[in-house]
Amino acid sequence: MKSKRCSTCGRIVPLGEFLRYPASKDGYGYKCAACRSSWKKKRYIKDRKRILVQKKEYAKTEHGRKTTRKARLKKKYGITLEQHEVMYVSQDGRCLVCLYAVPYSEIYTDHCHKTGKVRGLLCRKCNFMLGNAMDDPTVLKRAAKYLRGWAKDCEEAEDIKEANKALKRGKFGIFDEIKGEPGPELDPGININ
Ligand SMILES: [Zn+2]
Ligand SMILES: [Zn+2]
Repeated sequence: MKSKRCSTCGRIVPLGEFLRYPASKDGYGYKCAACRSSWKKKRYIKDRKRILVQKKEYAKTEHGRKTTRKARLKKKYGITLEQHEVMYVSQDGRCLVCLYAVPYSEIYTDHCHKTGKVRGLLCRKCNFMLGNAMDDPTVLKRAAKYLRGWAKDCEEAEDIKEANKALKRGKFGIFDEIKGEPGPELDPGININ
């Protein structure tokens, strides 16, 4: 027998195209070379899909989340999950700026952008606040002063009308106090008019 019918495509193909398969009657496999290769391709695609689905499912589990967090902490901040958890516990699970309690899964790891060093764990709002203030303590201090100034005005003003009168008088919170303070140097290239 020099050739045989492929059980998949039905073609008569030379025996050499079949794999040796001692368990079969004639000692050869059932699929021709072409059918074997397309079967392998299909199985690979199916397996890949299955593996991807499995990975996604795993990522949703408690263990999966832990693994992802662990890898991210190591890569982004160079700390271990254990170190991170110790930080969280030593902060009483609270944001270091607003002091609100934050679930561990929602805590933000704040770090210095220059040195890459982790500074502390914050809530989302406070972490964004620092970034929005360009990590500049002077800006934040001035913002606090600004709010305090307005708070004073609000207390003094008995109603909205009073507050509006204060505005008209040019009493812009604490602007008089801070207007002499130097701001950041302006880029000479920027036309502020
Ligand atoms: Zn075939
Ligand atoms: Zn906060």
